[in-house]
Amino acid sequence: MENKRFMPEPFKIKMVEHMGTLDKEERKVAIKEAGFNTFLLRSEDCYIDLLTDSGTNAMSDRQWAGMLLGDEAYAGSRNFYHLQSVVREYFGFKYIVPTHQGRGAENILSSLMIKPGDYIPGNMYFTTTRFHQERNGATFRDVIIDEAHDPRAELPFKGNVDLKKFQALIDEVGGDNIPYICLAVTVNLAGGQPVSMNNIKEVSELAHKYNIKVMYDATRCVENAYFIKEREEGYQNKTIKEILFEMFSYGDGCTMSGKKDCITNIGGFLCMNDHDLYVQATGMVVQFEGMPSYGGLAGRDMEAMAIGITEAVKFEYISHRVNQIRYLGEKLEAAGVPMIKPFGGHAIFVDAREFLSHLSQEEFPAQALAAALYEFSGVRTMERGIISSGRDIKTGENHHPKLETIRLTIPRRVYTYAHLDFVADAVIDLYRRRDKISGLKWNYEPKVLRFFTGTFKIINEELVEGY
Ligand SMILES: *Cc1c(COP(=O)(O)O)cnc(C)c1O
Repeated sequence: MENKRFMPEPFKIKMVEHMGTLDKEERKVAIKEAGFNTFLLRSEDCYIDLLTDSGTNAMSDRQWAGMLLGDEAYAGSRNFYHLQSVVREYFGFKYIVPTHQGRGAENILSSLMIKPGDYIPGNMYFTTTRFHQERNGATFRDVIIDEAHDPRAELPFKGNVDLKKFQALIDEVGGDNIPYICLAVTVNLAGGQPVSMNNIKEVSELAHKYNIKVMYDATRCVENAYFIKEREEGYQNKTIKEILFEMFSYGDGCTMSGKKDCITNIGGFLCMNDHDLYVQATGMVVQFEGMPSYGGLAGRDMEAMAIGITEAVKFEYISHRVNQIRYLGEKLEAAGVPMIKPFGGHAIFVDAREFLSHLSQEEFPAQALAAALYEFSGVRTMERGIISSGRDIKTGENHHPKLETIRLTIPRRVYTYAHLDFVADAVIDLYRRRDKISGLKWNYEPKVLRFFTGTFKIINEELVEGY
């Protein structure tokens, strides 16, 4: 049994939830009513829901048991102290401030560390992260390696920072105007691509030379640690826990979305080693989230998050997770579906530009593909292209990201390999009918984070009738 590449799920099912069962005609109405935006569909109307891996996780029996141990005191909850000790043990940072989710931590960090006119380098942007940086007056600069923007470049650590780009920014604007570098592990929008330990070390050395802090976007840090174990020389015999701890030892703090690698449904936190920053953060968390010992969370949520961290670093769990992504990717690849390679840690990103090569980027190929895949199969995915990328805050022009993708994001511990077979068949069938998919145009474009609530119209109604 040693050689089986895709071992079955390392969990068994104790409780079930029924899935949506709309037929194709009903789905056609549903997606039209949702303005061809998969974010606006009702969950009940979806069959397999791969919109996101954020908060969609299945908690374990132990986490649910922990929920009953919630100490719902207004201040000093026992679950906070448990979470604090787990974060110290696994992440290694001195101070932790819980927040309702990752963006709560981003809000506090950006408000405290950024002054108007500053620059924040990052290894590719993330939507809410960049939003908070810009809201506080900073200019975001992408310092990821060039290959990350090329869907077909196969590199083991495609999330790495290009040190020359980072140095060039320092030379251009001066280290004093760069409070921190935001280092995402893994890089969501690049396809869930990891950063190597060596690159983390080099970034840390360069940043600290200029008094620039290294703040991780730690959202998918366990997946990053798994890739280091698999791919980086010298880490094969280390545990995920050891690798994670080392990764964070080179930095000064992090923002964390507990909804991802803490395997919970809600939660997040901010960490730092600097005592002054911690004191300021506690002053801020009371204004926006709650007491520093709960930060917008119930005691039970903090308990579930503490237990989730200890489960996420188990090798059986994380290797199964990454293998599920790989399994889906390999099936699609065998049928010629264009995707971002190598496959990342949380999702398969289908290259919508290539898939719908008859559409220009102005016809929103990824948005159109996500809508069509839902109508065709009931599988819900998300646009990650020109719509998510938004407009330049200074010129008002659309950003034109090189990557125009739909993301098939796998929730943690929710679907089995059999579900992934269905998803693969749906995408492959649609690929054979791809010329029938029409582009989209705006119906309503929101001013901020427009991908969440924007609505669209079909450009060519006749085409769509075809599938
Ligand atoms: C989800 C996510 C966030 C924001 O976290 P929320 O919990 O959704 O607020 C930040 N960065 C990355 C890379 C993410 O994927």
